[in-house]
Amino acid sequence: MSSQDNSQLVSQIEELSGQRVSDCYQCGCCTAGCPVGELMDPPPSRAIRLLQLGRAQELLASEGIWVCASCLVCGTRCPRNVDYAKIAEACRALILRAKRSQVDPDVVDDQDLQDVPQQAFIASFRKFSV
Ligand code: SF4
Ligand code: SF4
Repeated sequence: MSSQDNSQLVSQIEELSGQRVSDCYQCGCCTAGCPVGELMDPPPSRAIRLLQLGRAQELLASEGIWVCASCLVCGTRCPRNVDYAKIAEACRALILRAKRSQVDPDVVDDQDLQDVPQQAFIASFRKFSV
């Protein structure tokens, strides 16, 4: 992926989350307070650093954004009012939206309708379509 694509992704993440990654000065308070920081790769401060360096694709491919429990502790500890929970949420949304072709209503046949509960279809359309 080109650096231009990566910088577009950073802009998208900033727009979706309402956060500016340049506001972060890497103090580490968010990571220090994160209850699952030891399991999160990358933890919040390092995830934001990746975005500052234009390495958005690396963050989107990481497990860390899925480990975040959206507990909001990081945002309350940040002296710069950066809310990493919103950034992680924006990253997850971008990935889920990109997978919209995984469930195509046009290819659902009668057998699928008999075999799969309706709630599962609705949940899939919500998650994997825009
Ligand atoms: S919102 Fe996510 S990153 Fe922030 S402290 Fe909670 S689990 Fe950690
Ligand atoms: S607490 Fe705020 S300023 Fe400090 S590293 Fe985390 S996001 Fe950056």
